[in-house]
Amino acid sequence: MNPNKSGLATLAIHASSQSDAHGSPHVPIYNTTTFSFASTADLLDVVDGRKAGSLYTRYGLNPSIFALEETLAAIEGAEHAWAFCSGMAAETALFLAHGREGIVCIGDAYGGTLELLSAQLPLLGIKTHCILANELEKLDGLLADGARLVFFETPTNPTLELIDIAAVAAIAHRHGARLAIDNTFASPVNQRPLELGADFVVHSATKYLGGHSDITAGALMGAKDLLLPVWNWRKNLGSMIAPEVASLLARSLRTLDVRVRRQNATAQAVAEAMRRHPRIGRVLYPGLPDFPGHALACRQMRGFGGMLTIEVAGDGAAATRVADRLRLFALAPSLGGAESLVTQPCTTTHHGLAPEERARRGISDAMLRLSIGLEDAVDLIADLEQALA
Ligand code: PLP
Repeated sequence: MNPNKSGLATLAIHASSQSDAHGSPHVPIYNTTTFSFASTADLLDVVDGRKAGSLYTRYGLNPSIFALEETLAAIEGAEHAWAFCSGMAAETALFLAHGREGIVCIGDAYGGTLELLSAQLPLLGIKTHCILANELEKLDGLLADGARLVFFETPTNPTLELIDIAAVAAIAHRHGARLAIDNTFASPVNQRPLELGADFVVHSATKYLGGHSDITAGALMGAKDLLLPVWNWRKNLGSMIAPEVASLLARSLRTLDVRVRRQNATAQAVAEAMRRHPRIGRVLYPGLPDFPGHALACRQMRGFGGMLTIEVAGDGAAATRVADRLRLFALAPSLGGAESLVTQPCTTTHHGLAPEERARRGISDAMLRLSIGLEDAVDLIADLEQALA
């Protein structure tokens, strides 16, 4: 397939060049740890990289994983992709391969990412810096001091703050540094960071790419020469995706476009209904014209996503009562699945931060983060209204 000619929905179904001897329309699960060869010469061709081929599953050299990676690369418009056993595994391999001279993380990021950057990587002597999105003036100095990898999520969690990918890519490249975007929240349907100048895209495929809350997986996309150094880290950290999971993820990607478009439309309807509700103080959603990041969202996103945050009028206890009364929204901290989820950041994703640090990041106790699923919009709105009543 020519990635420049087809749309994402087509690529998600047809991008893999792997074929099946029995005519299956998708690559079956190769539940195989090792692959045999007719001769030592054939084996050495694959071991030495002269020929592509299956060899050993932990290396990623397995047809189910090849098929998935071709599709992952195509949907992000990337030259290449590696699949991982989780989003954190993808980030860890990326940071170890490309971040050893220093990493700058901008804005709010997933708690596990912030912990890896602030607690674990410094144990290996890696300098990491976390700056807020409104402290971008610090970036030049940190890159001048030697940091070589810039990383951020946009929209951020849970305030849905937007960060300008093209502008940060220009700053990073001026210093010879690379930019990596965690595109989990937006998904490639809504945002194409590589087209905006980013060098890497990383995903928790556990979320929208998987889309059914039934697999844990990760992905890293980018140019082939930049991904090659990551390969050995993945191989020796042992962070390979399992063939069964690769097959399930490839299955899920076939419906990514239709799922995310539906989630975008429902999230917009829920955001508009919540903005009119007397018991809601604020609604944070990039698709609302008065949202501070709306203009940037219109420039760098193709859709506004399925994530939104509402601020209940009152205190954290009032928000907890609403969360506990919801019936369709399950109280769970993940996102991107077919079922809608609610989470109160101060009790889950940002529980580990001191209250002052949450306040500095604009995260109030009255906030509820909603991951909009595939249910009918009217039912989700009715559920929120009964919980708020
Ligand atoms: N990035 C984001 C934005 C996430 O929300 C998460 C998990 O919640 C991760 C990365 C880590 O992904 P995983 O749980 O697949 O390791």
